[in-house]
Amino acid sequence: MISFEKFRENAKAILERVNLSCANVGRDPRAVRVLPVTKTNPIEAARYAHAFGFQAVGENRIQEAVDKIEHPNKPEGLRWELIGHLQSNKAKLAVAHFSRVQSVDSRKLLERLNRLAGEAGRRLPVLIQVNAGDDPAKFGVSCDAVEPLVETGLGCEFLELDGLMTIAPLSDDPDVARQCFFRLRELRDNLAEKQGTPLAELSMGMTGDLDHAIAAGSTMIRVGTALYGPREQK
Ligand SMILES: *Cc1c(COP(=O)(O)O)cnc(C)c1O
Repeated sequence: MISFEKFRENAKAILERVNLSCANVGRDPRAVRVLPVTKTNPIEAARYAHAFGFQAVGENRIQEAVDKIEHPNKPEGLRWELIGHLQSNKAKLAVAHFSRVQSVDSRKLLERLNRLAGEAGRRLPVLIQVNAGDDPAKFGVSCDAVEPLVETGLGCEFLELDGLMTIAPLSDDPDVARQCFFRLRELRDNLAEKQGTPLAELSMGMTGDLDHAIAAGSTMIRVGTALYGPREQK
């Protein structure tokens, strides 16, 4: 695990990169938030993020995340977002521990999260994960199946549908990520107009492709490697 000093340097560099990317396309950098991704790193990763001033972190595995969220040394007041695939049978854990679920990709999961959030007496913010790059290795609903899910989500009393999320396919060709992000942006713009609701959050962009994501309108980049260094391969 890196030192806090190193983390702070990395975090400043990322914010600088966001500023530059925004300046290049005439966007307000305050409209792009950084979500530090703490997966595979110990609880200190979340403590660093909180100490630097980030309000939330992302985790992709539910059990690993719950262990951290229940850790005696967890930072107080930090929000946790689930960015990895959620199986329906873990939905209750997700509702109990996460401030938002970014990886909703089926009607069944929407309906289950809605029922469980109601039972827990809360409203749960969610994003719909879209496989906007048609990547067979990725979860997420295909672009042509997003509209009925958005309609279902907007009708769920105990969910707040904030917007859409995507993960670009891994590729040496930067156009692949760029096209994926612009496709999600266009899809969101069309749905927002049709449904009469902003669907304001576009969670897209990671360490390797965040500049393209910002150019396409990302409002949240999810950053692991650039903040914490390379993860050990599992
Ligand atoms: C791991 C992960 C990230 C962060 O990836 P980096 O390339 O390390 O920045 C972002 N989003 C999701 C969904 C992830 O699982």
